[in-house]
Amino acid sequence: MALDTESLIRLLVVEDDPVVLQSITATLAGQYRISIAKDFKKALQLVRQYRFALILMDINLPDGNGFDLCRQVKSISEFTESIAIVFITSDESSETEVKGLEYGAVDFMHKPLHPELLKTRLAMHVRFQRRTALLDQLVYLDSLTEIGNRRAFNKRLEQEWHRAMRAKTNLALVLLDIDHFKVYNDTYGHPAGDECLRALAKSLVTTFQRSSDACFRYGGEEFSVLLYDCNTEQARLLMDKALADFRALAIKHENSPTAPIATFSAGVSSIIPVTENMDEFVAFTDLQLYAAKEAGRNQIYAQDAHFEAKAN
Ligand code: GH3
Ligand code: MG
Ligand code: MG
Ligand code: MG
Repeated sequence: MALDTESLIRLLVVEDDPVVLQSITATLAGQYRISIAKDFKKALQLVRQYRFALILMDINLPDGNGFDLCRQVKSISEFTESIAIVFITSDESSETEVKGLEYGAVDFMHKPLHPELLKTRLAMHVRFQRRTALLDQLVYLDSLTEIGNRRAFNKRLEQEWHRAMRAKTNLALVLLDIDHFKVYNDTYGHPAGDECLRALAKSLVTTFQRSSDACFRYGGEEFSVLLYDCNTEQARLLMDKALADFRALAIKHENSPTAPIATFSAGVSSIIPVTENMDEFVAFTDLQLYAAKEAGRNQIYAQDAHFEAKAN
């Protein structure tokens, strides 16, 4: 019978010893979609190419060691950060084991690998990983709009901030807020207000489709967008489109002093980060949002970030 390998979980085995390799693949064949790397370089290449759930990793490799590999794998992306790495080694010392766990491995197994133990341990890690992924989803997702919540925003901001800092490129931030939303709720009721929030989230997600763009519910009727490698002017143009797209939904808002349809105001800013002053960047962008509100709402206010850089 042909195996449906497509539906199997991806496992990478990093091992240069052909005997060990043979015994692992014989034990796990049919249960995982197995890729093999016999050295450090190939392992990194495969990790960049495929989405592995698990890695079985030898420590002594011909062109490097598993500890460094583990660290590099974890730092590639949010996804690779969550790969469950299990070290396999003939080294019996507790120091080595402690070091492996400190480098971010989830487990440590000693060679020669006992087939049943290997199967059971890996199955256990798969269960843990699924549960963690599910919890992450709950922790970072806004249940009403099904986009990232404030916690997800904070995490992503920190990641993109440092990525932009390393690449010396712009990170743009948008903070937006529905106009006269209290009046909207008063007019149409809270459930209709919830629908309007969902519609805006959906509209934003449709407008911002680059994988480096991310939309969040910042809180209440406020949303945020992070645009990596995007300057203020580019971000403003994108937001003009986002506002046009949202207005095009023509969601009735008859008692709004601004327009007979639902609109929002947005503050836009961008920065090439050099210090850790993320909070000031957010505060600066919030000032632009406030200015857009003051200027009459239903518009975008954009300004390059400038504030006193705080000495750390
Ligand atoms: P402005 O144009 O100045 O932003 O006025 P506003 O009325 O939108 O601002 P205000 O901050 O006074 O009111 C925000 C409203 O958003 C009040 C609150 O009830 C409503 N809101 C916050 N979260 C939710 C939610 O999850 N669902 C609904 N339906 N309404 C919400
Ligand atoms: Mg080896
Ligand atoms: Mg508000
Ligand atoms: Mg509002």
